[in-house]
Amino acid sequence: MANETIDRRRVRDLRAREDARFLAERPRSAALHRAARATMPAGVPMNWMVSLFDHPPVFVAEGKGAYFTDVDGHRYLDMNLADTSMPLGYGLECIAEAVAAQMRRGSQFLLPDETGIAVAEELARRFGLPQWQFTLAASSANTEAIRIARAATGREAILMFDGKYHGMLDDTAFELVDGKLRPEGAGLPGDAARRVRIVQFNDLDAAEAALAKGDVACVITEPALTNIGAILPQPGFHEGLRALTRRHGSLLILDEAHTNVCAYGGLTRAWDLDPDFLVLGKAIGGGVAMGAYGMTEDMARLLEQGHGGERRLGAAFGPVAVGGTLFANALSLAAARVALEQLLTEEAHGRAATLGARLADGIEAAARRHGLPWSGYRLFCRSGYCFAPAPPRNALEARAAFDLELTNLLRVYFANRGVWEAIYSAGAAVSFAATQDDVDFYLGVLDQALGELTA
Ligand code: PMP
Repeated sequence: MANETIDRRRVRDLRAREDARFLAERPRSAALHRAARATMPAGVPMNWMVSLFDHPPVFVAEGKGAYFTDVDGHRYLDMNLADTSMPLGYGLECIAEAVAAQMRRGSQFLLPDETGIAVAEELARRFGLPQWQFTLAASSANTEAIRIARAATGREAILMFDGKYHGMLDDTAFELVDGKLRPEGAGLPGDAARRVRIVQFNDLDAAEAALAKGDVACVITEPALTNIGAILPQPGFHEGLRALTRRHGSLLILDEAHTNVCAYGGLTRAWDLDPDFLVLGKAIGGGVAMGAYGMTEDMARLLEQGHGGERRLGAAFGPVAVGGTLFANALSLAAARVALEQLLTEEAHGRAATLGARLADGIEAAARRHGLPWSGYRLFCRSGYCFAPAPPRNALEARAAFDLELTNLLRVYFANRGVWEAIYSAGAAVSFAATQDDVDFYLGVLDQALGELTA
């Protein structure tokens, strides 16, 4: 453990001091939280809003650019970006205008419009997959891609990598604990484990052993894992994985719900990857709920088969079990079009990546200055501190380096000084709306925190 030199009593003393300050300075958030408990479990409209942080939630007043303000008047530089769902910035005029105009024309018809063609064409051009469908979230895009993969292969199992997250789906929300599969939460069906295989990222031998049984419909992975800090692929990993899936008749789903912000066309384009499905979500709607998945022509044909045949009243609507009433609605497509054309430009991706590198450099310099053997994650606009001298190559190494007590301290320390740090599973990421000064502001607070920790 790289943090042996840190005095644990000091960590606890600092935490007590910072917690007291956090509470004292946020009376209005605390009052709203108390009131909200009367009508919402844990006083929040969605449980993650309390479970993702150790300190109490703040209630938001508004956001603009890379910052948001809470109801007590504190302004935060947002380095969590709502778990990479708001990397383009808050309160964007171009999105607000497009959404307002579309709302006046009607937001949802359960019929196609021309904007859908423009968005699908743009995604095809950018990400390389020729055919597209839309949902309201990456979770449902993953669900549908997995269903189509099962329909295409006649197999049910899916292979994933330890440390992954692909949504709260019955078939993906499993974790490996001491080599055994366990549902990630109560309420998930344990017997879905029969259809799940999980191996370590960057371990092609283990992937091959799992695929060789011949029952795996698809491998689903992010190009780089981003829900356990950041784990980058080793040279040759993706080429090897693609070759293995082809050899064993399995399909490949690349989940770029997060990583699409890394580069124009996502990591699929940046690293020249070749999936059967590419899943998008979060940022792609410019702040409006949106998911999308691209697929090969072969996969698209599966969605076309069977229409015009027998229709049974009350049965599924298409040949494959996909779809949702509000999926591909006119409002999210209108927002996505503007996000793609005006905000997710090559230049903007490049700028954010440059700032991300500045952040990682700064994190490593601060750690060195204070004698801590830490490293900085480096994934374009996503950075963050890793409590080990080298970034992890798989989930086992990531967990070994993780330090919950210290992470919780740093987050409340940052919040008290106007920085909203990333959730446990992530690392700090730079908003497209951030400037060099914003990154330096973050690094200044980090330097102050490390100074106090190691004094
Ligand atoms: N895939 C990945 C890689 C994710 O990180 C997430 C969310 N953290 C999802 C899918 C699910 O996204 P959503 O909750 O927006 O459906």
